[in-house]
Amino acid sequence: MKAKFLIIIHTFFLVSFFYAQKEKCSTKYDYLELGEENERSDSIFFSVPVMFHVLYNNEAENIPDSLIKQALKTLQEDFTVKNEDINAVPDRFIDAVGNPKIKFFLATKLPDGNPTNGIIRTYTDIQEFNHKKRNCFNISTIIEPSKYLNIYICDLNTAGSTPTGSAIRSNNKHNGIRVDYKYVGGGKRTITHEVGHWLSLYHTFEGGCKNKDMVHDTPAQKKSWTCYKQGKRQCRNYIMVSNYMGYARCRNFFSKGQVQRMHNYINKYKKFDYAN
Ligand SMILES: [Zn+2]
Repeated sequence: MKAKFLIIIHTFFLVSFFYAQKEKCSTKYDYLELGEENERSDSIFFSVPVMFHVLYNNEAENIPDSLIKQALKTLQEDFTVKNEDINAVPDRFIDAVGNPKIKFFLATKLPDGNPTNGIIRTYTDIQEFNHKKRNCFNISTIIEPSKYLNIYICDLNTAGSTPTGSAIRSNNKHNGIRVDYKYVGGGKRTITHEVGHWLSLYHTFEGGCKNKDMVHDTPAQKKSWTCYKQGKRQCRNYIMVSNYMGYARCRNFFSKGQVQRMHNYINKYKKFDYAN
């Protein structure tokens, strides 16, 4: 089956009061059909080079390599279940935890064999990017999206009701993720969430109690919740608040069903190398 365009636009509405943060997101999906059978050996990992595109108009947006390396470390940990907070997964969901076995690393070579440090920095006259348009993807040339993860870092103007990130897949021109420069590093999980979308996952709350995320082991939930809903029930299930495909700050795992879906998507649409 040929993949269709997927545009995921996140509209996060940040309201800070005391220690709580409320995030909101509006999303368009194409409901890509993928089986849930596991087609891969448990000992094999996928190996994916990452190209960061830093698009900046001022010094603050031209974030340092150190933040990019922090972001990469979080991504590496989350996709190999080496994140420290994996221990905080509630007992009732421990058996559902899956290991994506995807090794992300900073690209060292371009497709033509020329060396790269994995970070492309580009000055732009654009002060803020409109999250409804794809122009953040237009400034810097994408690197072979069937083999590389391209992460575009730009100013998405996240004050008020605005996005922190989005993902586009199955489109060679704009196939990757973009993230606001303030959501890179520092243990933030925006990139982990967007890479989940990039590899075909939907929100855990997709379809509300009708459960339309197309994964069997993520219980239905009415909407996105913050961490205070941990241990609470909804739609006749316990809410899987801390799944990466929700919005809670305490996000800490993908489910086995989500991992199978990502693997099946990769096998059909990507050309990643394997690694042990
Ligand atoms: Zn999302």
